[in-house]
Amino acid sequence: MVHEVLVQKLVTKTKIPIARYVVNPYIGCGHGCKYCYAQFIGPFKNKAGVWGRDVFVKMNAPEIFERELYNLKGSILFSSVCDPYQPIEEKYQLTRTLLKIASEHFRTVRILTKSNLILRDLDILKSTNVSVTITITTDDDRVRKILEPNAAPIEQRIEAVKRLRESNVDVSIFVGPVLPMNPERLASLLSKHVGRIFVDKLNYPWLVEGIYRKNGWTTWLREEKFHEVVAVFKKFLDVD
Ligand code: SF4
Repeated sequence: MVHEVLVQKLVTKTKIPIARYVVNPYIGCGHGCKYCYAQFIGPFKNKAGVWGRDVFVKMNAPEIFERELYNLKGSILFSSVCDPYQPIEEKYQLTRTLLKIASEHFRTVRILTKSNLILRDLDILKSTNVSVTITITTDDDRVRKILEPNAAPIEQRIEAVKRLRESNVDVSIFVGPVLPMNPERLASLLSKHVGRIFVDKLNYPWLVEGIYRKNGWTTWLREEKFHEVVAVFKKFLDVD
């Protein structure tokens, strides 16, 4: 369900190493990833809603952003506790509007997404000081459908990486969290498009333990499995 809300504040400071500020145009995320911890750490925890189903749209975000932007010195991340290109963005275009504002004010922007909807905004991205990171967590779209039900299929994310590169937009790939996969296949696929990837493990395994058991993936809950995957990736790519 979509809820239109007004907010007093939009930009927050962050300790995330890649940016000084974060902007979350939405509260909640329609991608509904089963392992997502944003449902517990962000403002969503104070909302009566179901993660993945309910999304709160910050209707006045552009006007607040215009006002707050004047006091910001440093890069801005879209987003930390939602995906800026989650499905509802297609209708509301909040991320697009905010990016346009950031671009007009010559700000440095970082974008983290699991959606090829970002390609809609190539016109703005090409003229913005921007780094895009596309998250690709597995090579197996059956796994994606179970754990990231409403996020873009893997093939579409890889296509987004390709198109962004062709358009000279700075783009990288984040494999995090590492989900059940064929690491050789994924590494070989990704190495056709980038030379370096960023990797992270599943940080809250208890969130998906039941799903992993049901699907026979329990070995993927072990930390050693993560290290095995990283070792394979290193044969194909630089890994951070
Ligand atoms: S895309 Fe990111 S914020 Fe959205 S549900 Fe998935 S992990 Fe959470």
